[in-house]
Amino acid sequence: MQHRRGLDLIPPRLAASKHEISVATFAPDGNYFSVRFAMIPAWWVLGGICIACRRIGEVDRFDIERRHGRGALVHVVGEKLRCTRCGERGRCMFILHGKMLR
Ligand SMILES: [Zn+2]
Repeated sequence: MQHRRGLDLIPPRLAASKHEISVATFAPDGNYFSVRFAMIPAWWVLGGICIACRRIGEVDRFDIERRHGRGALVHVVGEKLRCTRCGERGRCMFILHGKMLR
């Protein structure tokens, strides 16, 4: 996405995808397991994806950050999520679900 004043707000590989994007984009090494909440810019709305049934749901990242801390590893907290469709716990990952409206 190009800002109207010509500033690139998000990396091109993010802008190219219209689907959910991995939070690993913000890890220095591109690895999901090294992403912390603090690395993800605050305007991104996070979602959780269930690996078992592929359900995607929006999560309240600020509530999660308040409980676990902004320095918490995303994959550790993701293992605590429970899918509201199939009830599976421990098989969820965080994804970038969208951006907040301004
Ligand atoms: Zn599920």
